[in-house]
Amino acid sequence: MTGTRVLVLNSGSSSVKYQLLDMSDSSRLAQGLVERIGEQTSRLKHTPLATAESRERSGPIHDHDAALKAVAEELAQDGLGLDSPELAAIGHRVVHGGKHFTEPTVIDDAVLAEIERLIPVAPLHNPANLTGIRTARALRPDLPQVAVFDTAFHTTMPESAARYAIDVKTADEHRIRRYGFHGTSHAYVSRATAGLLGRAPEEVNVIVLHLGNGASASAVRGGKCVDTSMGLTPLEGLVMGTRSGDTDPAVIFHLARVGGMSIDEIDTLLNKKSGLIGLCGDNDMREIRRRVDEGDEQAKLAFDIYIHRLKKYIGAYYAVLGRVDAVVFTAGVGENAAPVRAAAVAGLETLGLAVDDELNAVRGDEPRLISPAGARVKVAVVPTDEELEIATQTYALVERNGYAAPPQGN
Ligand code: AMP
Repeated sequence: MTGTRVLVLNSGSSSVKYQLLDMSDSSRLAQGLVERIGEQTSRLKHTPLATAESRERSGPIHDHDAALKAVAEELAQDGLGLDSPELAAIGHRVVHGGKHFTEPTVIDDAVLAEIERLIPVAPLHNPANLTGIRTARALRPDLPQVAVFDTAFHTTMPESAARYAIDVKTADEHRIRRYGFHGTSHAYVSRATAGLLGRAPEEVNVIVLHLGNGASASAVRGGKCVDTSMGLTPLEGLVMGTRSGDTDPAVIFHLARVGGMSIDEIDTLLNKKSGLIGLCGDNDMREIRRRVDEGDEQAKLAFDIYIHRLKKYIGAYYAVLGRVDAVVFTAGVGENAAPVRAAAVAGLETLGLAVDDELNAVRGDEPRLISPAGARVKVAVVPTDEELEIATQTYALVERNGYAAPPQGN
């Protein structure tokens, strides 16, 4: 293998996010986003990091194939073309790897078939991820392509955490278990937190709070996930931007039987119209805080429900881990919303948890401690970097295997 560049692709149903990284020094060369693929109003925003001057294209981009070709053209303009021998591999974010994929995997036809087999448990995400992979393979069939799964980090969960207490035969027949998501972020952030503490990942126990528009918590013991808040799908767990998180499953029966709603309507309600947006009409924490500061009661209740749930998970994972070295906040809300961090650990001093108000108020892109000096349990803010983690895992795998793209069927 000669090249050191890795292209990271995150393909959604109508979007492709990408970053090109150079793994000789983990630097970013370019990044961008293609949105509204398949519509008349598609848009591509591309930023070469050398100049940081973004370029935009608008007008119809019909499918993922056209999107990736447009991305390739933009990269070529910056001398970073995808035909370059510098490109070592393409790393794909794949949302659902089931029980099967416990680590990053070089994609061949059998891997594609397995990702396809998992569509029933990830009907929104896996088809889009597959489209991205197929398109990229067609563009560079000679290049190794690696799938990095959102679920992989959580496959170390013991059965006691991964199973729901429902009839075992039914659960197994339908592959119903707790898979967890955001695993790439939990892996990166828990490792970076150990680094921040100056210790090896194997030595530390960490509670990771990934609070973005989607949100999840995980309990990580010695570098391995032992529990996480998302389950069969990303709907379980914390209150999120638009998802309810935990509810009594009987809410669904009630809405169907008494409310006369269809399963699809309930699905939309719980995934898209609940959480913060359902509670107060806003899912952006900046706006919610602004309203709270103005005395808006509805926003205050939404904030309180969000914090109450978060606190319950901190307590639960404290008990799961027994000993906690750090609680770490990451993603859009976790990295930026000091009031959320302060409220989440308020009153937990007897667990050794507290934030220093001045440290908590500091803004920045670097991993940092926000607990008082000498605290028994550290509280930290660690910006997540899923693209870097995907590129790192992809490059490590390709380097280990030597350069070889597996044969493709038709
Ligand atoms: P993510 O999904 O990680 O991109 O996070 C997106 C969410 O982060 C947004 O919906 C906001 O709620 C939140 N967010 C981003 N910036 C801020 C900020 N400065 N203060 C509070 N919340 C923020």
